[in-house]
Amino acid sequence: MSTTDNTAAVAADGVTGSDELVDVVVIGGGPIGMFTAFYSAMRNLSVQLIDSLPQLGGQVAALYPEKPIHDIAGFVSGTGAELIANLQKQIDSFGDRIDVHVNEEVQGLNRLDDGTFVLTTKTRSVHTRSVIVAIGSGAFAPRPLAIDYDRDGLDGSKVFYFVKRLADFEGKNVVVAGGGDAAIDWALELEKIAAHVTLVHRRDNFRALESSVAQLRESSVEILTPYKFVDVVDEGEGAGLRIDLAQVKGDDQPSLHVDALLVNYGFTSDNHLLRDWGLPVKRGDLQVNEFLETEIPGIYGVGDAVNYPGKVKLISAGFGEVPRAVNHLSEELYPDRKQPLHS
Ligand SMILES: Cc1cc2nc3c(=O)[nH]c(=O)nc-3n(C[C@H](O)[C@H](O)[C@H](O)COP(=O)(O)OP(=O)(O)OC[C@H]3O[C@@H](n4cnc5c(N)ncnc54)[C@H](O)[C@@H]3O)c2cc1C
Repeated sequence: MSTTDNTAAVAADGVTGSDELVDVVVIGGGPIGMFTAFYSAMRNLSVQLIDSLPQLGGQVAALYPEKPIHDIAGFVSGTGAELIANLQKQIDSFGDRIDVHVNEEVQGLNRLDDGTFVLTTKTRSVHTRSVIVAIGSGAFAPRPLAIDYDRDGLDGSKVFYFVKRLADFEGKNVVVAGGGDAAIDWALELEKIAAHVTLVHRRDNFRALESSVAQLRESSVEILTPYKFVDVVDEGEGAGLRIDLAQVKGDDQPSLHVDALLVNYGFTSDNHLLRDWGLPVKRGDLQVNEFLETEIPGIYGVGDAVNYPGKVKLISAGFGEVPRAVNHLSEELYPDRKQPLHS
């Protein structure tokens, strides 16, 4: 593969290019992108890791740093923040080979005639021999309650969509909305520190791990099902919230007076950039083969951003994709380098 550097020729106005040609740019610094950068450096590749958020760690750091994670091999009783701190230590151990850029959204991805790529952000461009897309579900936002309420005014003060600091809920009277894994996990975590926790769900059944549901039913969490939200009213400074509920197919219409409401209705995501970049996308997911490579040679995808038969969107599954992708691209870039048996 030729390594002609024609970055300058494609750089947009106001965007500074670099003469350097890196082996791989990892777009997205969630857990899978972080591990990808580390593993690429371990294979002696030069790496840039770029994330649009101010900190690395993706969904784990942004949405659930204090939630325990139970389903990663060898990672026992650790929180999201601990997992990201461990991944950061791995990156730091190859600090000289991994160039990390946060607060930078990759907006453009162009393939040059020689098979290399130029990525552009608002302020610069980078020339690379390969790209690994690890952007998760793209830009995401929490799904609010499906009623009219002062969403902006209450956000982060009395109504929450994720838990950044468990301590914020200590000694409080909290309502958790939702019936999935996250709602039940949080109800059980908050039970340990809150004064009282009520779980409100519009159905009688929960869509969560059976063991968690069993634990919930044995806990002190008050379960209100099937109830829907009618209104959420701010009771003023120094006071809490009034939450009006209505029983689904029933007459009960209780009002709860609580300190905080934690809504767990999932997230909406936007992966339109993949299409803008001309990449193969199906139902919002990047399509990859058994080497995690797209149909465009040199562009790979790992983690929540991709799909293929048998794909599981979990951290442990994403970690497993990384050696497959990186070892394959390493051999493409440096045919003399053989697959490693282990580190
Ligand atoms: C509440 C909740 C609890 C969860 N609990 C668990 C659990 O217990 N166990 C488990 O295995 N999984 C869990 N998950 C799922 C897990 O978080 C995801 O599978 C994982 O985060 C995927 O990692 P990723 O690196 O692929 O993507 P993400 O974590 O989504 O990271 C993608 C990163 O890419 C960045 N990005 C996006 N677009 C661009 C761009 N254009 N330029 C630069 N950067 C960009 C984003 O800013 C983000 O930092 C949970 C998810 C949620 C929401």
